[in-house]
Parts: sequence; C-alpha cells; structure tokens
Amino acid sequence: MTEQSSERHSGGITDANRRSLRVRIAMKSDVGRVRSENQDFAIVAADAETNKGHLMIVADGMGGHKGGATASRIAANSIRDLYVSSEGEDVAAILRDAIEQANASIYRQAAENEDLEGMGTTTSVLLIRDDHAWTGHVGDSRIYRFRGGETEQMTDDHSLVATMVREGLLSAEEAETHPRRNVLQRSMGVSSDVDADVAGPIDLVPGDRFLLCSDGLHGLVNSGEMAEIIGDQDIEAAAEKFVDLALERGAPDNVTVIVAAVDEAEDGAGVEPAPASAAAEQDRSKPVEPKMGASGCLLRTLLIALAFVALAGSFFLLVAGDLFVSWFSNAP
Ligand code: CA
Repeated sequence: MTEQSSERHSGGITDANRRSLRVRIAMKSDVGRVRSENQDFAIVAADAETNKGHLMIVADGMGGHKGGATASRIAANSIRDLYVSSEGEDVAAILRDAIEQANASIYRQAAENEDLEGMGTTTSVLLIRDDHAWTGHVGDSRIYRFRGGETEQMTDDHSLVATMVREGLLSAEEAETHPRRNVLQRSMGVSSDVDADVAGPIDLVPGDRFLLCSDGLHGLVNSGEMAEIIGDQDIEAAAEKFVDLALERGAPDNVTVIVAAVDEAEDGAGVEPAPASAAAEQDRSKPVEPKMGASGCLLRTLLIALAFVALAGSFFLLVAGDLFVSWFSNAP
C-alpha cells in the first residue's frame, strides 16, 4: 500500500460538518493449541481515554525465550504512548514517528539484554479518528476492510512469499503452503531503522468493518469466511467466532483479532467509547478480576473487623492460659 499525503485531507479532523459515526471495537487473543506462550499482543486505546480517536494495535512477537512476547509488548505500548502524547495534526507523520521510535526501543533493549537478543515483532496499527482512518504497518499481521460486500486487505505482507507472489514467482496458493512462508523481510526491532507503511487519511463510510489480525488467524481462515463472520452485528461474538474457528482448525500459532464496526450514530451523539477497556492487555483466557462495588467494600471491612476480633480473642486466651499454667505449676 502506498503512502498518501495527509496534507490534503488533514482539515477533515476539525471539519465542523463531519458525519457523526459510532465506533464499536472488540478484541480477543488466544495462545492457540500448540504454543505454550502467547507472544501476540493487542491494545485498544479508546477515544474516551485519548480524545484522539480509537487506536488499535496488533503485534506478533518472535524470538525465542522471552524475546517475542517482550518485543510485541514494547511495540504496542510504545506506539500507544507516543501517539497519545503527540502534538500536531499530521496524523500520518505522528504514526510513522511512533513506529520508528518503538522500533528503536526494541532494538536497543535487544542489544542491552542477552535474554532478548534477536527479538522482533510485526506491528499493525489502525486509527479511527472522526470520520477518517489511518494505518501503520510492518510485518505480516494484517488489516482488512469490509465494505459493501467487498473485502480489501489494506496492508501488504512484508514476507518473502508475498514478495514472490507480487513478482509473479509464486502463486497465492503455493505461498500458503510454502516452507519459508514465515520468513519476514521487514519487522520491528531487528535493525536500528524500520521502513513502515503508513496510509491515510482514508474516508470512512457507515457500515465499514475492519479486522486486524495476526497470521495465526489469516493463515487458517480465508477472506470469504472472514467477510461472513464480520457480518455479525454482535462484534464481540464475531471476535469470538474468529478465534474459535482458528482453534477448531488446530491453531498451531497464537491467534489475535481486533474487530471494529463503524456505523451512523443513531442519535447524532458522535463517536461512542469502545466497549473494550482502554489499553487492556488481551488474554481473555485469563479471568478478569471483578471490580468491587460499595456492598463489596462494606463486606470486606466487616470481615477484616471480625478477623481482628478473633485474633485478639485468641491472644487473650493464650495469655490467660499461660498465666493459669504458671500459677498452677508454682502453686504449693
Ligand atoms: Ca504468529
């Protein structure tokens, strides 16, 4: 995908006549059926938190013991932090800069720590801000857009086989089973510099659906199946279905998806906050600690008071017992 100038459209961000769009986001990640560790990492930073649109990131780490999981986390967290704290209106430039700085950070930490040597990660970023979208991308995770029955892969895989397909040296079918299909030509953290693909602003249309995913999904589920699943109005259910389908098919790799739905705001109230909690680390296989309500707090205070009384009582009995024993043994 070629880079687009953001100059021409950047006025769109402050355009008072912009459409009111409602954005819903769901994400899910699973370790899969073969791997022991989930080295994928996904983040959603919602507009309600950032006031700068909805930022979605999928990163698929690679590199032995500790490295892969560390690289994907550094990439996603750094890009989010850099984007949120950025100033200026040139969103494409901000995303590119954030990706480049995140790359340098992974590279530096890999050089400083023997355990992390050689770590790297893919990174795919989708930003939905007002009525435009931007993408930033390195590696072979993917971003798809589904619009009016058409499916578009918005990102190019930076893999050896994808290049061979583009150059006509390999068919798409051959690429799917090629023994070197995991070889990446571009990834984050393996060199001090990175060449990221950044695109946008891209106009949004009510009804647009987006999917960000790691290769643990797109290696197992084809684009026709994706379009069918993403047609579900319940995007939480859609995210679940994607992961379930990968698991059904053996899920040899970690599977991560973010689903975003863009619709006309019903009451014209504008973009609503994403249901996914801001910047949540996604591993839904782990139970989420429920937040304690007011009644929970009261119960906890009572239990602590009871425990204290019980403790004080036992101490009293212990001292009293001791006194009695010493009085009895010293008694004439
Ligand atoms: Ca993977």
